[in-house]
Amino acid sequence: MSLHDSNECRIAACRCHAPAEAGEPGGMRDMSAVHLSRRGLLRATVTGAAAGVLAGTGLGGLLVPSAAADESMLSPEAALQRLMDGNERFVARKLSFLDEDLAILQANTVEAQFPFASVLSCADSRVPVELLFDQSIGHVFVNRVAGNIATAEIIASIEYGVAVLGTRALMVLGHSGCGAVSASISAGAVPGQISALYPYIRPAVDEAGGDFVESIKANARIQARLLSESSPVVAEALDGGTLKVVAAYYDLASGRVSLLG
Ligand SMILES: [Zn+2]
Repeated sequence: MSLHDSNECRIAACRCHAPAEAGEPGGMRDMSAVHLSRRGLLRATVTGAAAGVLAGTGLGGLLVPSAAADESMLSPEAALQRLMDGNERFVARKLSFLDEDLAILQANTVEAQFPFASVLSCADSRVPVELLFDQSIGHVFVNRVAGNIATAEIIASIEYGVAVLGTRALMVLGHSGCGAVSASISAGAVPGQISALYPYIRPAVDEAGGDFVESIKANARIQARLLSESSPVVAEALDGGTLKVVAAYYDLASGRVSLLG
């Protein structure tokens, strides 16, 4: 049994989102074929096993239509919009993720996950990715490392999200006050292996002429470009129209995420 075959979607308790805009990605590429075959499995799973589980708990009413449950059926544009809409709710302090039944979401995602988006963000404790996009369990494939840099391991992780989990949007999220970028600008002596971050961020610092905020934004753009161009998996998904890659900037003070052109 392949990873795809075993990756059953049981996200059936999500109540906070509007029904999925089930945009079919263009092109019948190999990766699309994987997603298509998985959709059949998804529908069978949601309408079968999950329904049985929920019916047994008396919570069958929480089931959503299968199209809404399969988040990987979103178009890349809809997946990105779902992230941005969640950030609007976060900024407005109108969070809805707690309206989801987290216990059921957790139970139904034990064996599989179908997140609609991947995010590469900094490890900074002030950038809690799920919270600032008003998301909970099973929705976002989050990759975090200081400076949101595309190391080989991070690329591998993101490739897993795209190729196996079917994430439709990939966001590289820089943030204001990033210590990793600040340290890279200073390039001073630091303990341990912290300086291993510098080479990844240095091109952004050079491009921005050392300006702090512009370096952070340039770094997000450069890491997004690296992912788009250096990963065959990401590049193929982009070519096939099954993925959208964006760079973005999170402002700690306002809570707002802005897309970077
Ligand atoms: Zn940071």
